[in-house]
This record gives sequence, structure tokens and C-alpha cells, in this order.
Amino acid sequence: MRLLILGGTTEASALARRISGRADLEPVLSFAGRTRGLVAPPIPYRVGGFGGVSGLKTYLREQRIHAVIDATHPFAAQMSRHAAVACGDLAVPLARFTRPPWAARKGDRWVSVPDMDAAVRALGDRTRRVFLTIGGLQLGAFAAAPWHHYVVRTIEPPDAVARLPSHRLILARGPFGIDVEAGLMRDERIEVLVTKNSGGAATEAKLAAARMLGVEVVMIERPAAGDGPALDSVDAAVAWIDLHR
Ligand code: NAP
Repeated sequence: MRLLILGGTTEASALARRISGRADLEPVLSFAGRTRGLVAPPIPYRVGGFGGVSGLKTYLREQRIHAVIDATHPFAAQMSRHAAVACGDLAVPLARFTRPPWAARKGDRWVSVPDMDAAVRALGDRTRRVFLTIGGLQLGAFAAAPWHHYVVRTIEPPDAVARLPSHRLILARGPFGIDVEAGLMRDERIEVLVTKNSGGAATEAKLAAARMLGVEVVMIERPAAGDGPALDSVDAAVAWIDLHR
């Protein structure tokens, strides 16, 4: 069975590890190519966009792909949309493998917003000390509110950070512990944390730290999920693969 896994997430990498060595599968893991220093997975892989829906359809046909698992990040909405259209047109089975979103708990001070521009507006007109943990690509949106001080944490140096007049950049890769997160928020006198509702354990500690310190959280909720059955664990993904073998 020739299987395409759309990746760039810990979920996709975990699935790749689980199915590596299975003689009945010919999987390929696809990366967008956004990160430098890609760690080669234990299954065949490819890097780079397909060239829109038509490029993806060509790829699915040429590679004779039997099924697709969309294990991209919950905020990678365009790739998920393209996969839904291409697989729908070619009648290729498609499933969505994603981690569940975080849910607010007692003591949380969340302001839920639908997108990045709404997150910027939610910070308000008064100068605040803001902790941005949204990745690098959409940082530029916060240039519209230059009166805040931003503490920006990303894995790789983001170009757009220069557009924030008052900022401190921290380069670090999770997972982070609650003590580290609370220490950083205290030292930086953070008043509000901005995050996407990515879900998952690796970056959850910042939410616990915010709860502990009474820090407000601007939570950017997920775009609409992609098509196909929703799988929320490696076991469920393997069961779905076996069903379509
Ligand atoms: P996106 O906006 O949904 O996709 C933009 C374009 O990037 C797609 O149209 C596609 O190009 C290409 N692409 C995306 N994922 C791909 C994949 N797995 N394999 C091949 N091409 C892919 O995606 P994004 O938000 O920029 O995210 C890019 C990658 O980073 C994804 O793989 C995602 O899983 C990962 N990631 C994203 C986030 C996030 O917050 N968005 C966080 C962590 C990891 P073509 O149209 O040319 O095919």
C-alpha cells in the first residue's frame, strides 16, 4: 500500500516511527520544507510544496498513492484544504490525524479569538508586556500594535521580528517545564500570553504557568478541521491504514 503522510508535526513523525519496517506499506512522509536542519525520518520522505491542488493531484497519480493521512499542524489549513480537494477529486481515501485542542480549566483567564488579527486587537490600546509564542510566520501582524512590549519565542530567527519596535527575542525549542515558563513570565513581567490552540503536551506548560500567575491568555482557536475521519492517536491512525490496506 502506497501511503502519503502530510507531516511537519510530532504526530506525523510518531506515525512514521511506528510504521517503519512494515513490509506491507510503502509510505512517504511529506515536509513543507519550512525548517532548516530537518531530521531525516525512518521512512522515505520528500520536501517542498506540491504546487497547489493540481500539483498534489499529479503527485498522487504519478506516485500511485492509495491513501493519504493529513497529519499537518492544525493551523496548516491550506495544505489540509488542498488535500481534501485533491483526494475528493481522485477518490483517494483521506483521514486527518491531529492532536486534540487544549481546553480552558478552572482558574484560566482565556480570551478566545478566531485569528491573528483578532489576537492583536484583543491586546487593547494600553501598553502591555506580551509573550508571543505563535511561531515566526505571522509575527508581522503585531506591527499593527507597536505600543506593546513583545517577548517573542521562536525556534528559528524570524524576519518579521524587526517590525516590532519594542521586543526581546528568545530562540528556544520545547518542551518547556512549568518552572521555566513561570520563571520567564515572572522575570519578563508578562501580562498577557498569546498562543495558537495547537494542543499537545510539549508546549502546554506555558498555560499552566499562566494559570498559576493569573496571566491572561489570548487563545487563537483552530481554523476549520480538514476533511475525512478524525484520528487522534498513532493507534487510531494505524487502524485506519490497516482498514484501507
Ligand atoms: P499551509 O499554510 O497550510 O500550507 C502552505 C503551503 O505549504 C501548502 O499549500 C503547500 O504548498 C505547502 N505545504 C504545507 N504543508 C506541507 C507538507 N506537509 N508537505 C508538502 N507541502 C506542504 O501550511 P503552514 O501553516 O505554512 O505549515 C507548513 C508546515 O509546517 C506544515 O507541514 C505544518 O504541518 C508545519 N507546522 C505548521 C505550524 C503552524 O502553526 N501553521 C506549526 C508547526 C508545524 P503547495 O500548495 O505548493 O503544495
